[in-house]
Amino acid sequence: MSIQISERIQKLAPSATLEMAVKARELRAEGKDVIGLSVGEPDFNTPEFIKKAAIEAVEQNYSSYTPVDGYLELKEAIISKFERDNQIKYSPAQIVVSTGAKQSLYNIAQVYLNDGDEVILPCPYWVSYREIVKLGGGVPVEVKTSLENDFKMTPEQLEAAITPKTKMLWYSSPCNPSGSIYSKEELRALADILVKYPQIIVVSDEIYEHINYGTTPHFSMAAFEDMYERTVTVNGVAKAFAMTGWRIGYIGAPTAIARACNKLQGQVTSGANCIAQRAVITALNAPISNIQYMLDMYKERRSLILNLLNAIEGFKCNEPEGAFYVYPNISHYFGKTIKGKTINNATDFSMFLLEEAHVATVSGDAFGNGNCIRISYAASSEQITEAISRIKTNLAVVEEANS
Ligand code: PMP
Ligand code: GLU
Repeated sequence: MSIQISERIQKLAPSATLEMAVKARELRAEGKDVIGLSVGEPDFNTPEFIKKAAIEAVEQNYSSYTPVDGYLELKEAIISKFERDNQIKYSPAQIVVSTGAKQSLYNIAQVYLNDGDEVILPCPYWVSYREIVKLGGGVPVEVKTSLENDFKMTPEQLEAAITPKTKMLWYSSPCNPSGSIYSKEELRALADILVKYPQIIVVSDEIYEHINYGTTPHFSMAAFEDMYERTVTVNGVAKAFAMTGWRIGYIGAPTAIARACNKLQGQVTSGANCIAQRAVITALNAPISNIQYMLDMYKERRSLILNLLNAIEGFKCNEPEGAFYVYPNISHYFGKTIKGKTINNATDFSMFLLEEAHVATVSGDAFGNGNCIRISYAASSEQITEAISRIKTNLAVVEEANS
């Protein structure tokens, strides 16, 4: 019998970040020494004080279903976090805890979009936005930005993209993949456009909030009074707290959206894992100084990787202000041929790096910008140094073959 998968899933593109991780794992299984700089995943262990809270939760017999939208104590910790870090006031009915920020985003698309509704995505955007929007019946509308403008969308570009069908704007700041951060003034300028179009809801993905290198302070769209009722703030513990596998994300949202997400989760997951939720109460209530050692390391690694990449001909980098990615423009190499293979686009380039240098990166195509690749520097200094050295050596061979 031939099994026909639903059209909806046939049309769904796989996650490019996770796919690249699979390819790297396969090459490693063949005995190749692959350095993985593809997935955005901290290389730190979850901090001890958070692990201890989880162990205590197991010992205290937390094992039952939790409230679908999260334990009240966790919602209270999230509310305090939003007040402390973002100057946003939410009530418990506005908070929904989910199985990772990815599920929070999926919920939002499902509860707010109808077929044909348009969602503005400034490019580059995080890989999964496009597909999650499509799964909700939405139509992604990509707004191209440039390296010269630090990969940020201008108010003019935003206004030009708005149509009567526009229902949402989704962005991440700090941005995955560019590391750019919208300042308070830049967000205000975007908000000044948005207030003219009351049907548009903003999804502000702030999962990299704490990974900020100090040039542009973090600011939340919902902290503007006139945007509060029209913004969903998405966050989670995966990145700053080194808790990717614990799978906890959350939103602060207008009550109607939170209620709808709760209803959806009630039918789909019954809520997030109970032990992980208990651990996150401890994580969020702790002062940020507890995780500062990781943030300091990312800053050192950012300088290291930028210095190494800027020394390679054909790499043009912006200076990321947050997150742990660089997103260099590598279009210099397009059209060059090596070992009979022509590099026509970022995917060819990224595959070349994987196969020849044994360094896993992600093609910029997945993020809506085909001139770039994404490199994660959530890896040790030794790995970063070795990876960039291998890239440099292999690209020197390309230059020589094409000179
Ligand atoms: N948003 C962005 C911008 C991300 O980079 C990620 C990375 N996974 C997510 C959301 C999803 O986070 P989580 O692991 O909590 O699902
Ligand atoms: N957010 C990470 C990344 O962009 C994790 C992978 C994923 O969830 O797709 O690499």
